[in-house]
Amino acid sequence: MKEHYAVAIDGPSGAGKSTLARALAKELGFVYVDTGAIYRSVGYYAYQRGIDPADGAAVEALLPEIQLEMVYREDGLQHMILNGEDVTKEIRLPEISMYASRVSAIPAVRAFLMDMQRDMARTHSVIMDGRDIGTVVLPQADVKLFLTASAEDRARRRCLELEERGTPEPYEKLLEEMQERDRNDASRSAAPLRPAEDAVILDTTGNTFQQSFDLLLQTIKERL
Ligand code: C5P
Repeated sequence: MKEHYAVAIDGPSGAGKSTLARALAKELGFVYVDTGAIYRSVGYYAYQRGIDPADGAAVEALLPEIQLEMVYREDGLQHMILNGEDVTKEIRLPEISMYASRVSAIPAVRAFLMDMQRDMARTHSVIMDGRDIGTVVLPQADVKLFLTASAEDRARRRCLELEERGTPEPYEKLLEEMQERDRNDASRSAAPLRPAEDAVILDTTGNTFQQSFDLLLQTIKERL
């Protein structure tokens, strides 16, 4: 038996990756690693410092100032600690999504965050979600899933999620942002969003949470 297993879940924003990955990790006894949160933390730092997130040289110059830690608390959540401060809540602010998307296109940022992600998989059984986990971060992952859904479905889910959090945003705006973020993530030259050749592609359009959960769990169990 292997000491540690790795399940990679990639796909566009709003496909349900994080909700499903969190529940699957609990079911399987694995650690859920949300890699979007680490890009968001770097985006948040650029935002705080008033740096244009599309300015590669300026963002790269910030990296030596950044000390990032992932901490798992009793609440089961992955907390992000940026230079000693818990920024778990702040990185979810709607304006930080685009900052994260912009800084994540900078190769130096991706390189800076690579070891952190690989170290987690070396020391734990993980379900890691992101955009390039199956293709770049963990090409040896035991199971690779690529989760997708229509942009409309994904915008609707994000709309409900923000409403539940008490920070509602109009659907049309969210759909537009979703499509722009998809374009950025898929067209960038550094680790673009695409399924790994050996990934199982799953479309969750129209599914309930339970339907997607069952589908993913079965797919993972068959392959582990
Ligand atoms: O997953 P989440 O929406 O929180 O990620 C925020 C942004 O971080 C994404 O739009 C994407 O640009 C970037 N990201 C990435 N690679 C990952 C995870 C996230 O480029 N592995």
